[in-house]
Amino acid sequence: MNSDPLLTSLILARSEIRRRNRETWTDLDWEAAKSDPRTKALLVKSGKVSVSEGRLEFGQVDQMDPNLVWVDLGIDDNSIAYLAVLDESVAPDNWEDLRKAGNYLSDLEIGLLVTSTAIFNWHKKNKFCGNCGSETSVETAGWTRKCGTCQISHHPRTDAAIICLVVDDQDRALLGCRVDWAQDFYSTFAGFVEAGESAEMTLIRELREEAGVVVKHEDVKYRGSQVWPFPASLMLGYQVRTKTTDAVADGYEISQVRWFTRAELKSECESGLLKLPSKISIARALIEEWYGEELPSSWLRP
Ligand SMILES: [Zn+2]
Repeated sequence: MNSDPLLTSLILARSEIRRRNRETWTDLDWEAAKSDPRTKALLVKSGKVSVSEGRLEFGQVDQMDPNLVWVDLGIDDNSIAYLAVLDESVAPDNWEDLRKAGNYLSDLEIGLLVTSTAIFNWHKKNKFCGNCGSETSVETAGWTRKCGTCQISHHPRTDAAIICLVVDDQDRALLGCRVDWAQDFYSTFAGFVEAGESAEMTLIRELREEAGVVVKHEDVKYRGSQVWPFPASLMLGYQVRTKTTDAVADGYEISQVRWFTRAELKSECESGLLKLPSKISIARALIEEWYGEELPSSWLRP
């Protein structure tokens, strides 16, 4: 496997928040963090947050509803503690989610929001025990849910998925349009890791299934990962080389596949015929790395 330095432009992977060591951090520490007047609380309503002038709006701990789910997010470089307060009620119209606010927030703020979004989604779906069906309750500063009947502790999960940019011998990139996307939107190929698969096995299988592209293990180059909490994925990013030139869409998941030279990509994006993945996506970073320079925001989906 090639050992180039990993991608550094993965926006959702640049958190500046230091997480606690949850092996040693106690309920007493959690109470102390909550009672520290410097602590900042982020209210999250159905995955959305309040922003003002391009910054997250925080509240005081004592303004927050103690009956909501509270989650410790960690501390910044100045030892300021941050916590999320998770509310499933509908957010006001002017609140924003990670897909929107992720385009302009600071690395620290994105770190807080990406974690809040991921753990909001997890709490929402895990109120009942997957082992016995009884109700679960929140423990460990919001990082576990414990079953009151069978006593099993449940931890936040992420679903592993691969995402890859395919490049051929002429250094063209293969992009695809999914059947449920707008016809002018093209992206890289992706798929969930199935039970019993390695990430590379998934990649080889998905490319064969979706685009008829044949890839061998030695053609696979790992490029980095970032969480994609919509609702709970961890995207493992790759670039792969293939000798396949007659790629063909499966017609089931993918409606179109196309090889692009850099000049073709530029020309079609500039004329508005083609849209590429959003700034916060790992797909954008993979295409950008191949393209060789930053993709203008006007080429990207909002
Ligand atoms: Zn149980």
